[in-house]
Amino acid sequence: MLGPATESLLPLHEPEITEVERATVDESLRSGWVSANGPFVTQFENQLRNITGAPHVVAMASGTAALHLALHALGVGPGDEVIVPALSFVATANAVSHCLATPHFVDSEPETFGLNPFALHKQLKSVTISRDGVTLNRQTGATIKAVVPMHAFGHPCRIREIVDIANEFGLPVIEDAAESLGSTTNNCHTGNFGHAGMLSFNGNKIATTGNGGAIITNDEDFAQRLRHLSTTAKLPHRWLYQHDEVGWNYRLPNLNAALGCAQLKRLPDFLARKRRLAFRYQQAFLGNDVATFTKEPGNAQSNYWLNTIRLSSGDMTVREAVLEATHHAGYLCRPAWGLLSQLPMYQSCPQGDLSTALQIERTLICLPSGPRLEP
Ligand SMILES: *Cc1c(COP(=O)(O)O)cnc(C)c1O
Repeated sequence: MLGPATESLLPLHEPEITEVERATVDESLRSGWVSANGPFVTQFENQLRNITGAPHVVAMASGTAALHLALHALGVGPGDEVIVPALSFVATANAVSHCLATPHFVDSEPETFGLNPFALHKQLKSVTISRDGVTLNRQTGATIKAVVPMHAFGHPCRIREIVDIANEFGLPVIEDAAESLGSTTNNCHTGNFGHAGMLSFNGNKIATTGNGGAIITNDEDFAQRLRHLSTTAKLPHRWLYQHDEVGWNYRLPNLNAALGCAQLKRLPDFLARKRRLAFRYQQAFLGNDVATFTKEPGNAQSNYWLNTIRLSSGDMTVREAVLEATHHAGYLCRPAWGLLSQLPMYQSCPQGDLSTALQIERTLICLPSGPRLEP
């Protein structure tokens, strides 16, 4: 139960469930198809193919599960390292840990809040050596296996530069596009630039399946392998239980996919309303010398999943006062995530200079951005 004070707060981002969603979920219930596989899963994947332009889509039980399996299928295993931004939601690093690998933290960039291509290049240049086509961290002796950039709050990061640098060091890229459904760079949907991209349909994302995720990729074999691994690695047979390796129960249930199908039909409407809200916020902060509204990066179209402002003062008491005052006035504003490199389980992981990420973390505030706010 939510307390009365919380109940009256305008949330950061709540889902909008209408008659369309209720009817589609009801249809799934009546059909008797409720768990993994079923017609709505296929329909949901087809809709995602149309939206993202990706040739292959595999729907999964969560974004974290999708990223975990993608990294595993890429060959990330015990003792390996994966480059991730220090400024991200904890799931990005957790997916690496689920492979028994170690996240290696790199700095962010002030315009997009995503992985900084220069910091990535600098870190790879200073800590790695290439031996027999393998990229080794000279300091830890571990093999660096992949780079996972993230499109923060819906704004596309500098993904082309990041992919070029990763390629230079022989590293595949898996994009954490959990927050950027509907966001494009040079008219290409986020998640399509690297080897694969992960999407999330958690309850607070722009479109939800309750809990859910997906991998998008143009590698057909990779998609096929993810489908196999996410359904207990079961070999197709009409009645036999045959499994050829250790698999996972990570497929998206049909019941959740039904909710997703209805939500994706409304995505163009969500995106249009979010752009209007972002424009209103932008107008409201024009000429404000305490805080600056974060506009979408050049060459990019953001889904404006969460609107953010940057405080001009790096003084934490200013941030605290703003959060306190907005909360008191009935608006749930929130800071960015604390740096992952400061969490107890990730404190001793390898990392580069993280000063920009720290600066962003100290000055960023997320504004209510849900569908209830109609400008
Ligand atoms: C939401 C999110 C995820 C995945 O979340 P799930 O709840 O597992 O679907 C991963 N990374 C980022 C940056 C996210 O915002």
